[in-house]
Amino acid sequence: MSRAELRIGIRSLEGNIKSLYRFSQKPIIAVLKANAYGVGALQVALLMDKLEEISALAVACVEEGIDLRKVGVRKKILVLGGVLKGEEKAFVEYNLTPVVSHKEHLKALAGLNIPIQIKYDTGMGRLGFLEEVIKDDRVEGILSHLSSPLDEEYSKLQIERFVKILNHYRGLKYVHMESSAGVVYRIPFTTHIRVGLALYGEKPMPNYLVSLTPALELRAKILSVKTLPAGFSVSYSRTYITEKSTRVGVVAFGYADGLMKSLSNKAYLFYKGKPVKIIGNITMDMTMVDLTNTDAQVGDWIEIVGQNQSFTDLAKLAGTIPYELMTNLSSRIRRELCL
Ligand SMILES: *Cc1c(COP(=O)(O)O)cnc(C)c1O
Repeated sequence: MSRAELRIGIRSLEGNIKSLYRFSQKPIIAVLKANAYGVGALQVALLMDKLEEISALAVACVEEGIDLRKVGVRKKILVLGGVLKGEEKAFVEYNLTPVVSHKEHLKALAGLNIPIQIKYDTGMGRLGFLEEVIKDDRVEGILSHLSSPLDEEYSKLQIERFVKILNHYRGLKYVHMESSAGVVYRIPFTTHIRVGLALYGEKPMPNYLVSLTPALELRAKILSVKTLPAGFSVSYSRTYITEKSTRVGVVAFGYADGLMKSLSNKAYLFYKGKPVKIIGNITMDMTMVDLTNTDAQVGDWIEIVGQNQSFTDLAKLAGTIPYELMTNLSSRIRRELCL
């Protein structure tokens, strides 16, 4: 029934997880913050909850953790964004594991008997202690985050700083630092990898060493097809004028759905594997494409992301990153798990 859907391929998702696991030889902490990067956290989390390669899930804030527990997720849930005063009771009630990155977080957790993990800032310049060793029996793990995983020299510096901190701890169950792109460093002393983007088959760098298959397909239906004569303008502000008689399709997907306006007159969508150019300005709910030389009809699907183009490809054209493109996908897109 829906006009726009994001299809999540279960087989591909599972294949990517196995592939990441095989490559790193480490269990995975699946990062599902921001509604699993827009993919749909509840559906993805319930799937991940059953996979043995996944040892925990990670979210940004306590509310996201609560939502996962409420739908029945049983695995460990890490809350990356720490814990502020007033939130601590929810961590106990919903069995969430706080990532502590400030003395104030520790204060909020005073007297509560739950496991905690400590975050170190080895060069990200965001959350984390610089080098302070936290002497607390509740500490079950430490973590850090690479700021520029494509920069080998800087990443190695961060890894060196992290191992120095690790040497002050004993008997930790969790030591983790590698994100999707960071996996290629195969850090010898970490126990887990902590990945988000790569789960979906989006490659974090051009020659990524882990083999992935695209797990996401984003598509929308054609609302109208009509032939416009030469010299006719298409969409707001008349940024496109037909040069010849043109078969123009209107796709039920606009910038409010997450297709950035900056892709107007620039990107291609796909009809049955064939590229069809976006013409004129993308509007709030609709996008026009040139369907000349196709037999596309009203009600047919147009692929926005899938086998022919990834979120990473489209993001590059829009001058952004796949994370931003994906987290902008609107709630009116139907998310569906498929085989
Ligand atoms: C988002 C995030 C990740 C996952 O990064 P990907 O590039 O999607 O694998 C890992 N760790 C932290 C702290 C994050 O914020």
